[in-house]
Amino acid sequence: MEIEELAGRESYLDRAEGRVITAGDGRLILDRTVFYARGGGQPGDIGLIRWDGGEVAVIDTVRRDGTLVHVVDDEHLPDPGTPVEGIIDWDRRYTIMRTHTALHALSGVVWRDFGAKVTGGNMEEGTARMDFELDSMSQEFGREVERRLNEELVKGYPTEIVYLARTAAVEDPDLIRTKVNLIPEWVSEIRVVDIVGLDRQADGGTHVRTTLEVGEIEVVKTESKGKANKRMKIRLL
Ligand SMILES: [Zn+2]
Repeated sequence: MEIEELAGRESYLDRAEGRVITAGDGRLILDRTVFYARGGGQPGDIGLIRWDGGEVAVIDTVRRDGTLVHVVDDEHLPDPGTPVEGIIDWDRRYTIMRTHTALHALSGVVWRDFGAKVTGGNMEEGTARMDFELDSMSQEFGREVERRLNEELVKGYPTEIVYLARTAAVEDPDLIRTKVNLIPEWVSEIRVVDIVGLDRQADGGTHVRTTLEVGEIEVVKTESKGKANKRMKIRLL
């Protein structure tokens, strides 16, 4: 059964109605949901699912064998077919969206000004880390990147979500840099997050509409994770 996932196309939606497909063993699967499943370095949403006569807290959202699963900590679950409303913890999600966009902007600035590729990244609510293919990274470098990044964020670059055919995506120079070729062959349509003029990469996550919404960031730590692999930790202020 096809599950309608709304987060990718409507990132600012905080609630949606759907129906239960299956429920049990701490899992709830709906035919339509606004929850984002953990992936691409972005945490899964938490929140609430309620129905006529009950409600349950969602403590995580994950993907299992391709299916979006709401992880719940309760045995009293609605029967299959029950209409429900899912509501995400919007404050948390919105902070994560700001964090995620900050990371992409960071990646764009470090590539543009220092020619360094990203080798990995991860985020929590309001904090994130990103690893770069760099031989060295000093505190001074961190402060310089922080200054340049904040200078860019206030310019208000718009964020656009575009969908490209795989054949076009694998030939896009920006997307090649961010390893679009590692996306499984069976994915025929590639979702691209374009911070227009600053960063462009294949990504499934949720983002704010403009870098203005990110606000200001601080580089809190720089560290070496090995040869040609240096880590930078940031947080939203
Ligand atoms: Zn991303």
